[in-house]
Amino acid sequence: MADKKNLRTPIVCVMGHVDHGKTTLLDKIRGTAIVSGEAGAITQHIGATEVPIDVIVNKLGDPRLRDRFMVPGLLFIDTPGHHAFTTLRSRGGALADLAIVVVDINEGFKPQTYESLQILKRFKTPFVVVANKIDRIGGWVSQKDLPFAATFKKQSTEVQARLETKLYEVIGELYNQGFAAERYDRVTNFQKTLGVVPVSAVTGEGIPDVLMVLLGLAQKFLEANLQYSAKGPGVGTVLEVKEEKGLGATLDIILYDGTLKKGDTVVIGSLGEPIQTKVRALLKPRELSEIRYESKFQQVNKVTAAAGVKISAPGLEGALAGSPIRVATEETLEEIAAQVKSEIDEVRIDTGSV
Ligand code: GDP
Repeated sequence: MADKKNLRTPIVCVMGHVDHGKTTLLDKIRGTAIVSGEAGAITQHIGATEVPIDVIVNKLGDPRLRDRFMVPGLLFIDTPGHHAFTTLRSRGGALADLAIVVVDINEGFKPQTYESLQILKRFKTPFVVVANKIDRIGGWVSQKDLPFAATFKKQSTEVQARLETKLYEVIGELYNQGFAAERYDRVTNFQKTLGVVPVSAVTGEGIPDVLMVLLGLAQKFLEANLQYSAKGPGVGTVLEVKEEKGLGATLDIILYDGTLKKGDTVVIGSLGEPIQTKVRALLKPRELSEIRYESKFQQVNKVTAAAGVKISAPGLEGALAGSPIRVATEETLEEIAAQVKSEIDEVRIDTGSV
């Protein structure tokens, strides 16, 4: 078994057609993290939401699961959609380690559903399909926040049959797209078969199951990708370049490897030569209990992957969203700058073909 301490949090992106429920699903997941935060588990990030493993295991109601999963939790990128997925890269691959494709079970596949599947196939990203809005199935009696099996059991035979019919239409579409798929609790081998989880992003039914399948995928597919050294130099991707009152241009980044500290020299991709600067401040969102402070942010001295953080530093104006950011030392500065430049060129050539 790999050492638990060396596995970072997998990064998850939500994709799917407009109005099928991506934002609602993310809000529900974020709500999960915040509610459990009352018990001290909350981890606020910039541009991302972390759901720690203990919160997920509590939701699932089976403490034995704690030892089955080795990742520390899941980090959801707050911006849904395939634009976020394709522009956010890590070393030429996708920044997201895992994805959720949301499809409205009542509407079925739409253009952006097909596009999402094509993109995930191209990047070979493991994903789960969420068949959303089950609460809209005629006669469905909602059971707030329950796992799928528990809520399914409480439905009448006719309603169960209605769900199965719609679900197998989704599964049929997935077959047409070249994916063997099955209701997730009927999948015996997730390496061969895609899991489909029926959920309601509004009532929370099935959400615990989605989190569990994601953990399972992380465990099966990603162990090698998720190995990292907390002591290594930080490597991340720029989510957004943002003007902040009193700070000037700042960068919201997702750190996916190593550690980033206040005072570190960093190299960031831009249209011209890479930017070289020193981190003046690392900022995280202030805890909800502290909003009496004027600033929305609080300073931290360091962050370790995976994490979303805001960077304040001189000269960030020309930075590019989607470009790499790497920590350098005096000895490695030249080499790292060359590396960042070549990564930028690759991304620019490659996104042209999406
Ligand atoms: P997005 O465009 O994919 O981000 O979709 P949204 O999350 O904005 O959802 C679009 C609409 O569908 C909103 O009015 C949501 O309230 C609604 N919606 C999303 N999920 C569900 C669900 O599970 N059940 C019901 N009844 N409505 C939902």
